[in-house]
Formats: sequence, structure tokens, C-alpha cells
Amino acid sequence: MDLNLTAEEKQFRDELRTWLETNVPKDWNEWREKPIEESFPYLRAWQRKLYEGGWAAVSWPKEYGGRSASLMQQSIFWEEMARLEAPPMANSLGLGLIGPTIIAYGTDAQKKRYIPKILSAEEIWCQGFSEPNAGSDLASLQTEAHLDGDHYVVNGQKVWTSYGWVGDWCELVVRTDASVPKHKGLTVLLIDMKSPGVEVRPLRQMTGESEFGEIFFRDVRVPKENVLGKLNDGWNVAVSTLMYERGSYGARLHLLFKRNIGRLIELARTLPSNGHTAAQDPLMRQKLAQCYAEIEIMRLNQMRAFSRITATGVPGPEGSIQKIFWSELNQRVQQIAQELLGPYGLLQAGDPLAPDKGIWSYGYLRTRGNTIEAGTSEVQRNIIGHFVLGLPRSY
Ligand SMILES: Cc1cc2nc3c(=O)[nH]c(=O)nc-3n(C[C@H](O)[C@H](O)[C@H](O)COP(=O)(O)OP(=O)(O)OC[C@H]3O[C@@H](n4cnc5c(N)ncnc54)[C@H](O)[C@@H]3O)c2cc1C
Repeated sequence: MDLNLTAEEKQFRDELRTWLETNVPKDWNEWREKPIEESFPYLRAWQRKLYEGGWAAVSWPKEYGGRSASLMQQSIFWEEMARLEAPPMANSLGLGLIGPTIIAYGTDAQKKRYIPKILSAEEIWCQGFSEPNAGSDLASLQTEAHLDGDHYVVNGQKVWTSYGWVGDWCELVVRTDASVPKHKGLTVLLIDMKSPGVEVRPLRQMTGESEFGEIFFRDVRVPKENVLGKLNDGWNVAVSTLMYERGSYGARLHLLFKRNIGRLIELARTLPSNGHTAAQDPLMRQKLAQCYAEIEIMRLNQMRAFSRITATGVPGPEGSIQKIFWSELNQRVQQIAQELLGPYGLLQAGDPLAPDKGIWSYGYLRTRGNTIEAGTSEVQRNIIGHFVLGLPRSY
């Protein structure tokens, strides 16, 4: 893969850079450490601005409001966003996973109805897959829907639904045929979260936020035309969403990790350790250098995934390699932060005694979920073993 920018890519970068330099909000640092419930309207307004500038979803086809950006241009987009420390976008699941799934499987009417409002953050989306007894083994899910006239009637419960508390719409996987093998009787429905019978109960995480929650469905009526894809083909639709989820994050995360490791290296130069600075401690130097190298490996793996997607057109099981790599690396980086900070690592954002604004305690707690969300590390290893290495199934 040639990593030098072409004239077209340079032009894309320069146009984006000029736009971002004028439009990235200057006060993001004041909002960055606030709980997501408080900062959400801010992030929504920022996404609206990107949308108005035509930058909300550069990877999407032009006909759906994107820029049909090549993978290299997408990489430039995230690099420039990170370089200018731009805030993230509010509708992250809509833009990263659900919008692309609607583009792939939706009818023309569905695309027309949902896509523009995903882009503008007018409607926030959540992903209703996991249930109390169906996480890794998603196909065992029990939320069911049966046809009643021209509506499906949905009953059941989802759990760990990120952005459920603010979601306007949900991509919901339900069982529509219990008489066939479990993967074959599933359907994806697009559900208006304001429908009668939908109840959202936030769950508090150890970070103190309620980023996710439970959703209960009691006799919720969903118009027949809200089936995404074909009836009883929900497994394939849901797997597409998961592929987008696993494949899409690495591109932007290595930039965030690079910034984090840079901050830790600076901290190591100032924090004391056994009579000298932490940067002079041989063990700490090794750990920082190891993580720095791993972040570079992550970038190169992402490039490899880009090449493959360019060749095949869709993200594949190699997204699982990225998922394991970034989630476990993020935990290692946060672990080093705690070792560096010692007891100061316990202090939270806003504490005047906390070095580096107290950002690390939140990161340490939040990253524990990284190896669970979007499929656990064990499950990703099963996928790699079977689909990438061609080993026999272990389950
Ligand atoms: C921060 C966060 C956000 C999330 N957001 C969403 C969301 O928006 N929407 C949504 O639907 N879900 C969401 N989830 C749920 C997530 O997808 C599930 O937690 C995950 O798939 C694991 O399922 P589970 O919790 O039921 O654990 P289980 O599947 O019960 O697994 C328990 C343990 O058994 C292991 N295990 C299970 N099966 C195997 C196997 N075959 N081989 C080896 N080990 C195995 C797992 O690795 C794990 O360690 C979120 C989770 C987190 C932490």
C-alpha cells in the first residue's frame, strides 16, 4: 500500500483542514470531562455543524449525503479531527453502524426517511441487540414480534443499550419465527422509541454515568414497513451492523491513543519515582515504549484492513483483530497511567490536586468495558480462529 497522499487526497485534506480550523469549537476542553448526559446537546450541535458543512459522514455515498470518500480520505478525516482536538459526534451509532446498515439493506423509502436525520443528529439511534440471556450468543435472543394486521407487536427486553436514554430510534433484533433453528427466525425492526409500550431504564456504570440502560417492550406496535432487510433474515442484517462496529473504530482510536501516550510520556517526565522522575525508571520507560510501538502497529493493521476493504467492498472478520487489539491496548495504556500516578490516579476530573486534570480515573474505569462491548475478546478470538485461521469451531 502506498501511504503517500495523492494530489486529490491533499486537496481533500486542505479543504477539510480549512473548514475545521474555522469551525471546531474552542471551548470543547470545558465540556470534555463532563458526564455524557450533560455534554450530549453540545455534541449534537457540533454534529449538526459538521452536517451543514457536508462533513458528517464522509465515507457515505454522495447520494446519501456523504462524500464517497476513499478509505484513505476517511483516515485523513479522523486524523484532522484528532489533530484539532475536535469533539466526537453525538449520533455515533447512527453514523458508524446503523446508517451504513440502512444504506445496505433499506428500501428507498427507508433510506429517504431515516438517513438525513441520522446525519443531522436530529434523530439519535441506538442498537437493541443484547438481552439478559443473549449477549455473545446473540441468536438466542427472546424478544419476539408477531404480525397483527399491518403491524408487528413486540414484547421482550434488551439490556446494555448505549444511548437508549437519548435514542429516538432503535435497530432492534427480534424473533419472528421460533419454529426454525435460532439464527433463521430473526428479523430486524426499526422502532420509534416514543412508541407506546417502550420503557427505558438507565443503568449506572462504575464511571458514574448512565451511558447505557435496559429497554422494555410491552405490546409495542411497529408498522410492517419498518422491517429492515427481509423477514427472518435478521441475522445477516445484524452481523453487517456488527462488522461495521468492529471495523470502523480502529481508524480513529489510534489517534486518540497516540495523544494519550504522548500525555503519559510528558507526565512521566515530571512525576517523581524513587528519587528521580518516572521517565528515568527503566521499567516505566519499557512500558511506555512498548505501548507506543503497539499504537503504531494498530495504525498499520488499520491500513491493512483498509486495503482489504478496498479490495472486497465490505469489512470482514479481520475487524475482530482490530477490536481485540485496540480494546486490550487501551486497558494497558490506562493501567500504565494508574502506575504512573499512584494514589493521584484516584482523583477525578475537577479535583484541584489531580495532575493532568484528573482525566485518568475516568479512562481507567471506562476502558474495562472495551473488552466486552461490541463482542468480548473471547468471542473475537473464536471468530479469528474460525474465519481468519480456518480452525475448527470451538463451540
Ligand atoms: C460499555 C458497553 C456498551 C454496550 N452497548 C451495547 C449496545 O449499545 N447494544 C447492545 O445490544 N449491547 C451492548 N452492549 C452489550 C455487549 O454487546 C455484551 O455485553 C457482550 O456481547 C457480551 O454479552 P454478555 O454481557 O451477555 O456476556 P456473556 O455472553 O454472558 O459472556 C460472559 C462471559 O463468557 C464468555 N463467553 C461467552 N461465550 C463464549 C464462547 N463461545 N467462547 C468463549 N467465551 C465465551 C464471554 O467472553 C464473557 O467473558 C454493551 C456492553 C458494554 C460493556
